[in-house]
Amino acid sequence: ARRAGKNQIQFFDEQQLTEAQQRLTEESDLLNALDNQAFAIWLQPQVALKTGEVVSAEVLLRQRQPDGEWALPDDLIERIESSGLMVHIGNWILEESCRLLAAWQRRGIMMPLSVNISALQLLHDDMVASVMELLHRYHIEPGTLILEVTESRRIDDPDAAVAILRPLRHAGVKVALDDFGMGYASLRQLHRMKSLPLDVIKIDKNFINDLPDDSCMVRAIINLAHSLQLSVIAEGVENAAQRQWLIDEGVEVAQGYLFARALPPAQFEADFLPASHQ
Ligand code: C2E
Ligand code: CA
Ligand code: CA
Ligand code: CA
Repeated sequence: ARRAGKNQIQFFDEQQLTEAQQRLTEESDLLNALDNQAFAIWLQPQVALKTGEVVSAEVLLRQRQPDGEWALPDDLIERIESSGLMVHIGNWILEESCRLLAAWQRRGIMMPLSVNISALQLLHDDMVASVMELLHRYHIEPGTLILEVTESRRIDDPDAAVAILRPLRHAGVKVALDDFGMGYASLRQLHRMKSLPLDVIKIDKNFINDLPDDSCMVRAIINLAHSLQLSVIAEGVENAAQRQWLIDEGVEVAQGYLFARALPPAQFEADFLPASHQ
């Protein structure tokens, strides 16, 4: 270990210094990736179960890998969060999403996009102003932007989340509660669900996996959602038996590999949007 000389003040110990350096490297790696177009948003279709029609899409972050493939590395979101860049990169994801919505809306297409919002981004001071500014600058029909927020330990201040979601929802933005049932305090959250500004509950794919054999959790979530006049999206639907069970139980919308994986926007447009007449 390095020894501080006489009269020298040692600000950092070796380990703190290494950690600070790693954080800086991580931060500049992520900023370089953003600058070099190594990040992209991909779209996974969300399908109306009754008709099979694509009614919306979830925006999912992808990063170009050394082999040229696009993927979401397991720890990328965590690394973005711990680097302090979640708000910056999250705002970029929101802006890319609004850019797509605006291009579609100029063609008269009102397909909504559902964007994942990290708790860090949601609870940041500028959240309401940033979203409002984007809606305004891109002339977005507010009802076509859905924010997916996660029920998580991180949202340890539900009142703060409500204070942010309420004005956004008042402006027409929709709110989906992601990964419902996976949180640490689902039951404790139930009693205040009525006061949460929500439109949609997304059932996590861990529960959909168990269908149709083990269905009691999914049935409970559907009943809860419908009793609160919320619509339900089932995520991670992979087979026809799961789809049929969900149809029989009155679930409106699903997404999963049975229908499609996340696609680059150009491919999503070619496959699922009406052809342009221009
Ligand atoms: P999530 O929000 O629960 O997103 C659903 C994940 O399930 C996506 O993984 C999607 O590709 C995958 N998936 C969809 N259908 C199926 C299926 O039928 N079977 C299986 N096995 N998987 C399916 P992905 O894209 O790797 O994202 C993982 C997580 O990373 C997301 O989970 C979300 O929490 C986070 N994430 C992704 N993009 C963003 C983003 O733009 N911002 C933030 N804050 N988080 C993101
Ligand atoms: Ca999600
Ligand atoms: Ca999630
Ligand atoms: Ca999930």
